[in-house]
Amino acid sequence: MAVDVRRKIPSVDGLLRSDPARRASAYLGRSLVKRTLGDVLDEARRAAANGIEPPADEILLARALGRASRAAHGTVPVINATGVILHTNLGRAPLPERAARAVAHAARSYTDLEVDRVTGRRTTRGRNAELLLTAITGSESALVVNNCAAALLLAMSALAKGKQVIVSRGELIEIGGEFRIPDILSASGAKLVEVGTTNRTRLTDYRSALGDRTGAILKVHPSNYRMVGFTAAPTATDLATLARSRSIPFVYDIGSGLLHHGHGHPSDEPSVSDALTAGADLVTFSADKLLGGPQAGLVVGRADPIRRLRRHPIARAVRIGRMQIAALEQILAIVAAEREDELPVFRMLRDPPDVVRARAQRLSETIGGELEGARVVRSGSAVGGGSMPGTELPSWAVRLRVPNPDAFVARLRTGTPAAFARVQEDGVLLDCRTVADDEVPHLARAVWYALEGDDEHDGLHGDPDEG
Ligand SMILES: *Cc1c(COP(=O)(O)O)cnc(C)c1O
Repeated sequence: MAVDVRRKIPSVDGLLRSDPARRASAYLGRSLVKRTLGDVLDEARRAAANGIEPPADEILLARALGRASRAAHGTVPVINATGVILHTNLGRAPLPERAARAVAHAARSYTDLEVDRVTGRRTTRGRNAELLLTAITGSESALVVNNCAAALLLAMSALAKGKQVIVSRGELIEIGGEFRIPDILSASGAKLVEVGTTNRTRLTDYRSALGDRTGAILKVHPSNYRMVGFTAAPTATDLATLARSRSIPFVYDIGSGLLHHGHGHPSDEPSVSDALTAGADLVTFSADKLLGGPQAGLVVGRADPIRRLRRHPIARAVRIGRMQIAALEQILAIVAAEREDELPVFRMLRDPPDVVRARAQRLSETIGGELEGARVVRSGSAVGGGSMPGTELPSWAVRLRVPNPDAFVARLRTGTPAAFARVQEDGVLLDCRTVADDEVPHLARAVWYALEGDDEHDGLHGDPDEG
């Protein structure tokens, strides 16, 4: 049986000679088309081995050419109507225009990336961002690397390789599938010493684990989950005091990049300034979470340990790129000038529900006010990016009642412009907290496109509970 179905699968060369594949090869390159054809045929062959009938040649061809074309187009801008502000799969923080321009300039030409224009001497690529960071946070020193995972790997390698690092069992977290505290520590060459229990760790647990081989005390903010109930953990101040009494560094990975409290949004996130005030020697955080910048890992704290990080060979392996640094400098300059409301992430966090509601109203009207199915409804947005779990921001959305919500959101994703929405019960929710004002007409267009492709039904369903 399986042998019989497998025989129906065409050869790569056969399909490469077809007209559509020739045209695609001329445009995208023969090697790319050949590669995606090979992949698609391999998949069909494996499926056939499991008794699954291979699709027609035209379908295989379309699948392969679609894949080649998407790869050649690269990542495309999408409209985020999920309501999740720091959506890691959608790139986390959108940047303000000023940062986007800086990236474009840095991309197109040579820059003074590592030279001081005044002296003509070589300098470090992080100097501007690091100066801004020390000014903003009041820290002695700062260091910029590729991302927060890299910052922690570098910190542990430079300070605690071959030594022990004490971490609470309640903080051995995983973030985003690949980032696990025990794995980062073992990759750094430091030895993890777990103390306490999942829900309760006391200062005495840390104290009794301290010894000659201790390289650091590490505190990690459990960004993406919350423990409630019978819990306990020593404060950062207690840990800093204990570490200082033994002359070992205290490193605090706060992750989220909240600089100060009092920005007006509800939060039980630790802030950079709290962590420094508590006495942390090093504080590590991401630039593309609550700070609202590009991907980068930021380290602030005392000059001496930061010097050790800067000189470590891993610092070179995790250095930041020239376009990222260009964006980061603009973000930090905006924060230093106290003009945070220029940052899209900051605005999305702060927009009052009425503003979001008015946007949803505009979207609903643009989609087609006469369509009963496009209703403005209450919704709840999430911060996302592993920040502030359980915190729901009151939001407003346009709800579309469509016969097949999953198929509808799939067409939204693959349209131009592409948009991402939430499926909810029997409808699709377009949360307007994460939609920019100037995206409203484009999102409406995306919805029209997705509705047209709906061959089960031509249009929206009226809402039965509206009579
Ligand atoms: C998000 C997060 C990280 C990883 O940050 P990236 O910049 O994505 O590498 C590390 N630690 C904590 C506590 C985090 O929240």
